[in-house]
Amino acid sequence: MNKSQEKLIFVQDKMAKAAKLARRKAEDINLIAISKTRVADEIRPLLDAGHRLFGENRVQEAEEKWPALREEYCSFDGQASEEQADVEPVKVHLVGQLQSNKAEDAVRLFDAIHSLDRPSLVKALAKAMDKLDRRIPCFIQVNIGEEPQKGGCEITDVPKLIEATRLADIEVPGLMCIPPSQVHPAPYFALLAKLAKDNELTGLSMGMSGDFETAVKLGATHIRVGTALFGERG
Ligand SMILES: *Cc1c(COP(=O)(O)O)cnc(C)c1O
Repeated sequence: MNKSQEKLIFVQDKMAKAAKLARRKAEDINLIAISKTRVADEIRPLLDAGHRLFGENRVQEAEEKWPALREEYCSFDGQASEEQADVEPVKVHLVGQLQSNKAEDAVRLFDAIHSLDRPSLVKALAKAMDKLDRRIPCFIQVNIGEEPQKGGCEITDVPKLIEATRLADIEVPGLMCIPPSQVHPAPYFALLAKLAKDNELTGLSMGMSGDFETAVKLGATHIRVGTALFGERG
């Protein structure tokens, strides 16, 4: 077994234990393997192990890696063996900031976006989705620690932004956050969970390598894990 395959099992095991403690089903939690800065050779072992959900933080980097990897791993061209035919298609989510002028590339490339945080981006994404006739779900990113340097909308702007996505026919599965570093993330995860509940959303994209177990205990449906799967980024 390859190192990152061992790490995948290790992370899945921790997820399952955290879910059990919280009386949740492990299947209700999606592990997004954050493959930013990793080259195809580092990503393939996870694909070979059957993992199908990945995340990137930059449009251009994803464009350089994923069309080829998708083709390599979901060739339903009649040549796929029966075993391969059972495997789900590869999914790639955008978890990083998105500029409006890249909205069309993003809609074409990704299966979901986790960083919708402003009305102008709702507009740009809706326009891109209409043009490409392809609709992808978008989590609303909330600046949960009210940090000036961080992306995400203000907590008080969440209802307005949800309303804008409804009008634009963009599906919002839930809320996403990156809590402040150096402090315990639990209060921020709990606050995001409350905000989602108040707005009748069920999805929670929260938790990274250092805190995904806490996130799972507090209701995360999508955890975004890079370092714990691939090792330290160079
Ligand atoms: C890089 C990144 C992650 C993964 O971080 P790790 O600490 O490596 O697990 C998660 N979410 C976002 C938005 C990221 O940019």
